[in-house]
Amino acid sequence: MQLPGERGDGHSGTSCRRVASPTLATPSAIGALCERMPTTVQSKVQTYNNFIDGEWVPSRTGKVFENRNPADQDDLIGLFQESSVDDAQAAIVAAERAYEHWRLVPAPKRAELLFRAAQLIVERKEQFARDMTREMGKVLEETRGDVQEAIDMTYFMAGEGRRQHGQTVPSELRDKFAMSVRQPLGVCSMITPWNFPMAIPSWKIMPALVCGNTVVFKPATLTPLSALNFVKVLEDAGIPKGVVNFVTGGADVGTLLSRHDAVKVVSFTGSTQVGRMVSENAAPGFKKCHLEMGGKNIIMIMDDAQLELAVEGCLWGGFGTTGQRCTAASRVVVHEKVYDAFVEQFTRRAKALRVGPGLNENNQVGPSVSESQLNTVMSYVEIGKKEGATLLAGGHRLDSGDFGRGFFHEPTIFGDVHPKMRIAQEEIFGPVVSVMRCRSLDEAIAIGNGVAYGLSASIYTRDINKAFTAMRDIYTGIFYVNAPTIGAEVHLPFGGTKATGNGHREAGTAALDVFSEWKSIYVDFSGKLQRAQIDTQEL
Ligand code: NAD
Repeated sequence: MQLPGERGDGHSGTSCRRVASPTLATPSAIGALCERMPTTVQSKVQTYNNFIDGEWVPSRTGKVFENRNPADQDDLIGLFQESSVDDAQAAIVAAERAYEHWRLVPAPKRAELLFRAAQLIVERKEQFARDMTREMGKVLEETRGDVQEAIDMTYFMAGEGRRQHGQTVPSELRDKFAMSVRQPLGVCSMITPWNFPMAIPSWKIMPALVCGNTVVFKPATLTPLSALNFVKVLEDAGIPKGVVNFVTGGADVGTLLSRHDAVKVVSFTGSTQVGRMVSENAAPGFKKCHLEMGGKNIIMIMDDAQLELAVEGCLWGGFGTTGQRCTAASRVVVHEKVYDAFVEQFTRRAKALRVGPGLNENNQVGPSVSESQLNTVMSYVEIGKKEGATLLAGGHRLDSGDFGRGFFHEPTIFGDVHPKMRIAQEEIFGPVVSVMRCRSLDEAIAIGNGVAYGLSASIYTRDINKAFTAMRDIYTGIFYVNAPTIGAEVHLPFGGTKATGNGHREAGTAALDVFSEWKSIYVDFSGKLQRAQIDTQEL
């Protein structure tokens, strides 16, 4: 169904002045506002729809929410559907219906569609990166990387259409064949965060599709445009109606997607706090529940480390994506023999980082994604000071001149941090790094393991024995040697331990385990009853 005045691409044009308040606005309220505004300040604001059962449709609520540029709050990117549980319900029903057809499409054919999707993302990469920087702030170089990751994952999972290997094993009995095959589960709910707004959806949706499942996708409200761009690619690649559904909205939509009886898999990436709620909502229905949550990752720098390399790693790991990565190196522990030298270099280099809007290629660090995220950063700076850590660099919001229209903060480093301080224990998700001292590798590992989370860790050392010891003894899902805690590749499993994850893994062939389940098959071609598990003398 296409509404009057809508294009068939998820957008509908609305010529309107920017709505000043970041609160909900109904289309009629916006219309009234438009009429009152002088034409000189008019600009084109698009309204974007949900994608349900192959159609771009507005929410039944009639409400929309704003998507604004975190580097410039005067820049209104678009209006998105403030959906209700009714919209989510319609999407689930569509996905349930579509499953009956999609599960029977041969996996290599499903994969052909993924190949086409990957090609389309390649063609649209630059525009997608620009849209992403505009809506969530990270610098262009990084948003290009985010889109590239979606391309890599889509090609990788397309390849899995011709694999999805099962096992064939010898049977205990004569004239009997034994094997296992993967089977899809049905409707999968995908609930995603804003920090990797195209990569993370691709990590979930592509393996789900290639395994034969159907999808209802709810992105973070801060990054609906990148999510919509991704869904549009799937539509243009020829995804059958109902196989992928897209619903924008908040916690109530996410709650229904976690609870609904027809949903068989919930795949969630986001904070540990929300992940716990998702887990509780999914449990009574015995759904497969895949959680990727918060992190408090560490870089360990030994006294034999190549110090300049370690400094480079800490800058990229700590301040890349403005510290808003689940794998961000928000903790650094340094051997006391090189602590002063490291801190001097790290602080000097952090102060020289160029902060500003990500669309300017000259900038290295963009804004925080939202006012609330910036407030979290500023509150942790105060906590760090009160806890007695030494503020070595940064510590302030940047709000003079053009900075004032965005959510910018100085790259911030605390030294003399005690491992039990809150700034060393809690996820801040901003440009704040805590530096601690250690006297030995054992102490560094104990500090590394001494947090609730377990996503990523790294060591800088030239001693292979130390590298392997740390690799074995750090309890995280990802580990790096002589590299920062960030930079995963799509063909290895991705995920964490403890409060970061619940045992599943994203990416690589491990992702297939989330979106399929095993069926073991025995074929007896003896023509008589053969009894397994019963003692027999026959050879
Ligand atoms: P968030 O938990 O606030 O939101 C994540 C998603 O959950 C959003 O789509 C949100 O709308 C939805 N949601 C909110 N309440 C819900 C509810 N009650 N039920 C169901 N869904 C609900 O997280 P965020 O701020 O978008 O992202 C930042 C967090 O994500 C950080 O903690 C970060 O570490 C984590 N993260 C983890 C990984 C990983 O792989 N481990 C990757 C990226 C981000």
